[in-house]
Amino acid sequence: MAELQDNLAKLDTYVTRFRETGVLNLIGGKSVPAASGATFESVSPVDDSLICQVSKGSAEDIDAAAKAAKTAFAEWRDFPLAERKKVLHRIGDGIVARAEEIAFCECWDTGQALRFMSKAALRGAENFRFFADRAPSARDGQTLPSPTLLNVTTRLPIGPVGVITPWNTPFMLSTWKIAPALAAGCTVVHKPAEFSPVTARILAEIAQDAGLPDGVWNLVNGFGEDAGKALTEHPDIKAIAFVGESKTGSMIMKQGADTLKRVHFELGGKNPVVVFEDADLDRALDAAIFMIYSLNGERCTSSSRLLVQSSIAKEFKEKLIERVNRIRIGHPLDPATEIGPLIHKVHLDKVTSYFDVAKADGATIAAGGERAGDTGCYVKPTLFTDATPAMRIAQEEIFGPVLTVIEFDTEEQALEIANGVDYGLTGYVWTNDLTRALRFTDKLEAGMIWVNSENVRHLPTPFGGVKASGIGRDGGDWSFEFYMEQKHIGFALGQHKIPRLGA
Ligand code: NAD
Repeated sequence: MAELQDNLAKLDTYVTRFRETGVLNLIGGKSVPAASGATFESVSPVDDSLICQVSKGSAEDIDAAAKAAKTAFAEWRDFPLAERKKVLHRIGDGIVARAEEIAFCECWDTGQALRFMSKAALRGAENFRFFADRAPSARDGQTLPSPTLLNVTTRLPIGPVGVITPWNTPFMLSTWKIAPALAAGCTVVHKPAEFSPVTARILAEIAQDAGLPDGVWNLVNGFGEDAGKALTEHPDIKAIAFVGESKTGSMIMKQGADTLKRVHFELGGKNPVVVFEDADLDRALDAAIFMIYSLNGERCTSSSRLLVQSSIAKEFKEKLIERVNRIRIGHPLDPATEIGPLIHKVHLDKVTSYFDVAKADGATIAAGGERAGDTGCYVKPTLFTDATPAMRIAQEEIFGPVLTVIEFDTEEQALEIANGVDYGLTGYVWTNDLTRALRFTDKLEAGMIWVNSENVRHLPTPFGGVKASGIGRDGGDWSFEFYMEQKHIGFALGQHKIPRLGA
């Protein structure tokens, strides 16, 4: 309790400035309100209190930001690569220096527990350092000689890009997109989610303080259907890196069609964790719980479907129910808290609506299934059992601390159930049978799979989904493939025969 009081006092020092000035946009190096003067409120899901006013950008602000990004592009594209690396490392330093402020503001703005957010802020710094080190080699290509030509490839940054981010772990996800874009030599217009605007502003300030030239990184807050849409339609913006819901992804694809936008989509998931009878069941239990109840279950890679083999299901479920009922709900800034409030009242209503859906479809609510407390957006960690694969709770992304348990008898059934959804982001497989693991992962429809492990991100590996979970990959060189254009140049080696027409 004493620690929570200390943390609340510190939070006050961090958010006072936002209460006074609001969250301003950053366009061409200048902190500015929306051109229209409009603002919207950012409210804390902890107690429904007002955090601050936020500049409500629209098409006019996006246009100014896109023009600033276009003007700054030549300078940043040609910035000496060793210097680009240093600037990006300084952004990493700045994040570390302000990590506590970022973590506290993120907890207050999103409801995420401090135990996860302090690490998320530092992960953001690592993302910048990772891509800082790769900036000098971003332009590297290949030599592909043929008998007549020396063929070489090189890469060039695509131009100003738009980055549109969601409200779940918004700080970390923003760094994930913006760091490779900058390392590639692109300039950026960032439109953060309207539910969680605060830390995007801090991040942009850190970049400015690190010496990033004006206009390289622009920030425009606003609503998706307004500022977000304008960004996807802007002719000066060459590509859109988007993280969010699958249905928004398809809207963005349509909106970007007229200007032939390149798109990279990281979308929703309904990820299976498949537990076979031969697995290390204690570790499987820990991982299954962690992957759905950490981060309030508001995570795209969460294992929201537990597929458990019937022979071990009874005992596994008993242990699961006991643990789920003991998960600590509380204030995000209390270090003991494991689950904080959901992001927003609108999302709370969505998540809790599935409690009735589960009952109507004939599933059992084995834990939770109700709100927690009278204020804020708290919900009890919830477990649905007796579910069948076709039920909505087994098909739709709920995006909260809600796990649906489905039982299976055979490996073939498990595979059919695992693949029987629209999504294909991640999969988690628990078995000590090596050949089964090889067979199963080969057929599992997911962009990322972990065997006998929770999701452990390694930055050089590709991140992304298949089916309705996304298009394209982040991470390592895959990020540069998106933010850069390939160029091929063929140099004739001698006097190869050129067809002579009209000779
Ligand atoms: P969302 O799609 O509602 O919003 C995401 C962003 O898109 C916001 O900034 C929003 O303002 C903007 N937007 C909305 N409509 C737009 C439009 N017409 N044009 C342009 N921009 C528009 O998503 P959310 O609710 O903020 O985030 C949760 C979703 O994100 C979940 O589905 C989750 O799975 C997904 N997600 C995926 C990944 C991944 O890596 N695959 C990571 C995190 C979150």
